[in-house]
Amino acid sequence: MSDCIFCKIVNGEIPSSKVYEDENVLAFLDISQITEGHTLLIPKKHNKNLFDLPKETAEKLFSVVPKITNAMKNQLNIENLNLVCNSGEKAGQEVFHLHLHLIPRYGKGDGYG
Ligand code: 5GP
Ligand code: ZN
Repeated sequence: MSDCIFCKIVNGEIPSSKVYEDENVLAFLDISQITEGHTLLIPKKHNKNLFDLPKETAEKLFSVVPKITNAMKNQLNIENLNLVCNSGEKAGQEVFHLHLHLIPRYGKGDGYG
């Protein structure tokens, strides 16, 4: 999708702080971090949200989650995290390229929830 911000990040047209990449998925830091280390994990192929997610893409995407959470655990020294996927405008989705939010939690007053 030519006008999609996250497709542009995948293509390198927009810079991002990458934390993980393979042929199918990309993880990068959210530009406006809810908490320190807030990371987005996306399929490289454009899918809108959870209502437009082929099983094969879901498997590739979710199979990477342990890699990312382990890296976050070690690097950020965290043991608490929220995995969120806003799907649809009424659910708070603003960028319509499917993404999982991985939000480290540090306790009361960390800015989320
Ligand atoms: P949504 O509300 O769609 O679930 O979340 C979209 C997320 O994308 C937001 O947390 C927002 O900060 C992030 N975001 C929007 N534009 C950019 C960008 O250009 N770069 C990065 N790294 N994150 C972005
Ligand atoms: Zn896209």
